[in-house]
Order: sequence, then C-alpha cells, then structure tokens
Amino acid sequence: MTRYLPRRTFFHLCSASAAFLAGRAVPQVQAAPQPNRRAVRNRKNFVAIQIKAHAWLDEGVEAVLDNLQKAGVNTVWAYTYDWEMGPRNTHSSGIPLPDHGKYGDPRFSGGAFYDYDPKYFRGALLNDFRSPDFGKFNVIADVAPKVKARGMDFFCWDYNNESRRMIQNLPGAAQVTEIDIDGRRTFGPCFNHPEYRAHLSGKIESYLSGYPAQVDGIAWGCERQGPFQNAIGGGWTSEGISCFCEHCRAKARDRGLSADRAQAGYRLLTQLFRAASQDQRPVDGYFVSFWRLLLDYPEILGWEKLWTDSYHQVRSELYGVAKAIAPAKPFGLHIMQNMTFSPFYRAEEDYSRTKDYADYLKIATYNNAAGPRMAAYLDRLSATLFHDAAPKDFLPFYYKIMNYQEGAYEDLHTTGLSADYVARETKRALASVAGQTKIYPGIDIDVPTRSTDKRTKPDDVRRSLHAAFDAGADGVVLAREYVEMWLTNLSAAGETLGQIFAQR
Ligand SMILES: [Zn+2]
Repeated sequence: MTRYLPRRTFFHLCSASAAFLAGRAVPQVQAAPQPNRRAVRNRKNFVAIQIKAHAWLDEGVEAVLDNLQKAGVNTVWAYTYDWEMGPRNTHSSGIPLPDHGKYGDPRFSGGAFYDYDPKYFRGALLNDFRSPDFGKFNVIADVAPKVKARGMDFFCWDYNNESRRMIQNLPGAAQVTEIDIDGRRTFGPCFNHPEYRAHLSGKIESYLSGYPAQVDGIAWGCERQGPFQNAIGGGWTSEGISCFCEHCRAKARDRGLSADRAQAGYRLLTQLFRAASQDQRPVDGYFVSFWRLLLDYPEILGWEKLWTDSYHQVRSELYGVAKAIAPAKPFGLHIMQNMTFSPFYRAEEDYSRTKDYADYLKIATYNNAAGPRMAAYLDRLSATLFHDAAPKDFLPFYYKIMNYQEGAYEDLHTTGLSADYVARETKRALASVAGQTKIYPGIDIDVPTRSTDKRTKPDDVRRSLHAAFDAGADGVVLAREYVEMWLTNLSAAGETLGQIFAQR
C-alpha cells in the first residue's frame, strides 16, 4: 500500500529475545527520531470522559454537557466509531440504568457516527461503515461546535475492539479477520491485513483532514491480545489461537519463524491446559511441563511476539498518520486493564516503548471493577499455568511481582482494589514514559460489575482522584462510560477536581 501520507515509523523491536527464541536474528528496527513533543497542545489538568453516541440523542447535547461540566470534564471523548453495546445499553443486562439516560436500542448496528469522504479510504475494501443507527446524526458536526462553545475540547474516541457485529455489518470485514490454528475465521480483524490497516489509517485521516476545525485530538482504543494471552484466558480473551493468515505467515517467514512448529506448540499447550481443567497432573506438575513446552517450542512465544509486534506497529503507523496531518493535536492510546493484572501482558505493553508513538496514555485503572476482574484473572492462572496451586496460595507472591498491596482473594469481589492501586499504576507509567508522554489514569465511576460486587461510592471517586494526582498524573479520564455513571458520583468528581486544581 503506497497511498498513505508520508509516515514516520517510530516502532522499534526489542529483537534480542525474539531472535533467541526463533533461533535466528530478527531484523533490528531502530527507533526513528522523536517527533517534536513541544508542538503538541496538551491541555493542563486534562479531564476527559467517554460518551456513547446514543447519549447525545437520549438526553440532549446541552443537558449532557451541563452534567459533564459539573463533573469537571474539559475534554469530551465522543464515540465516533463503535460496534459494541455496553452492559447498560440493554434491558436484559441485569444492570439498572443510572439516574439519567435510556437503554440503547438492541437493534444497534454500529459503525461510524460521522460522515466521511470516501477519498480517505480509496482503494480500501472496508469503506462502507457509516452507522445507520441515528439517522443523519453526525457526532462531530452536531456535537463538537457545542462542546467548543463551552471552552471544552472534542476528541474522536475511535474504538476498535473486535466485534461480531462489525463482521456482520461491515461489508468486507469477514475477509480480513484472523485465521486460527484450525484454519477457521475468527471475529478479530488481522493487523497484518493491508485492507484493515487501510481502514484504520483512513479513519485517522478522515477525522483530522475531514474535520480540522472540530476535532482537537484522537483517542485510539483496542482491547485485544495475542494467542498466548488468549490461551491463558480471562477478560479480553478472543476465541481461537491466531493468526495464521497468509500475511502473518509471510511476516513469520521473514523472522525465520515456523508456522508449523508454532501450531504444534500451541496444540500441546492447549492439551496441557485441558489436562489442568480435568486435574490430570503431569508427573512434573503443570508449571514445569509448561516451561518444558516453551523450551521445546520457543515458537509459542515467537508467535505471540509476532502478534504483539504487529499490534504495536499498527499503533505507531496511526500515530505517524496523525502527526503528519496535525502535529499539534494530541493522539493517544487507551491501554486495557489487563496490563494491571497479567504479568505477561504487562511485559508486552512496555510504556517505555509505547511512549514513542503516543502523546498520552489513558491507563485503565478502574479500582472497583478491578476486584472481580483481578479475581477472574487469578482464577485463569490457577486453571492454567499455575494449576499446581490455588489463587490464595500464590496471591502474596503475585502481589510482590505486580507491586501491589491489596487484600485477600476471598474479599476481592466485595472490596475491589484500593486507591493505592491507582497510585502505583500511575507512578509506574510515569516512570516508564520519563516525561515524554502524558499519563491519564482511568477513574472508575460505576464500571459495571455484578450486583453483589463492589459498587462505586462518591468517596471511592474522591480517593481515586486524589491518588491519581498525588502520584503525579497529568490528568484523568472518568471511566468507563457516561451512560453508566450515577450523577452523585459525577458530582463528587467535579467537587474533588475543583479542590485538587485549586491547589496546583
Ligand atoms: Zn493474520
């Protein structure tokens, strides 16, 4: 594909481990010169919030903005592209609506909630994705001017999780999905498919070139992970061990990585985890058997690294597209919460490298929902790699590895995690990016959990905000969704932010 704007690739591989594992050298890609960070107009005391498209229509744009300003929000992350319906979008979720808004329409189709010029997608397969959901409603043209009239900024929240709805409703999407170990199509588009990359970069062009006066920045999000992470499971898991499409195989060949051996290794890993699910302990135990498998099939990690490198490469390309068009407008990334639970995912989401292609990182540090989410991940570790032990057996060791000081496994659902978790993850991110990239922790306000789990109270919001800013955060994102949040919690955010900023 040569149609793109000139782009700089800031992507660099840490090839040493991959080369060792693959048994031959991987081409070393050096980091390109850094972009001019001083050109980026980052708002001081940044406070953002994510808004589903239907909220503007259900409640009215001005009424929503009134609520946001009471909450101290100065930057609107409006969903401009979305195929998902959150739990509070449906009657059948079992999660009650908060004290505002309406349920979404279960017939939701998804796609882009703005008009785009097809020229940004020329030659691309995936160019027919205008959402039919809300008539001619254009979230950029119809909402951004009202946001800016109040002195707030408008960011496009470009949300790229995999979605069955996308495969059904976006013509051509089924042709770009990953192919799993058994040759079946999955529901996740492949980051190495040139048509999907054209779709992703065309959207960035369509925002920044199509709406130069309305769009102040981009928030790019995608909660996906590679085949090794998916084999362990937990939240954010995609079905199937993938990708083995022609594009990924070609990339593997360039690294001297055998697809056949990767597949053989993953089949044995799946067998080991199946044995764990049936308590059929190998003679040397689950963990030793797992490690032996990695020694015999380093291609297991090689294929995981191939996936992750491709994901990082796409993000760096999108950053290059954005900076070539609008160097002053912040382009940042949502980082999914698994980086706070999985030591393996954390290793692959190295902020000291991600900082090279992001003006800011929104790190998902939702401390209330973190209780049940962490417990679920510990359950998966105990069901797979660490099936020799129960979560309560390895929890103190796990906390040491992850640098947390939290409570007992049995209490995680009902207590959530503390505000100290927010502080620690904020400090870790700040230390990794070394001042080059802004860090905005995600503050948990009613992130959905089961009715018996910890629920957000105003004091939780206050404590999390203080923890984030005391740790040195450059701003925050109230999370997850405005449509999920109770107004009392939003008001608590507004009061607390006012107090914090008055002292800065
Ligand atoms: Zn692929």
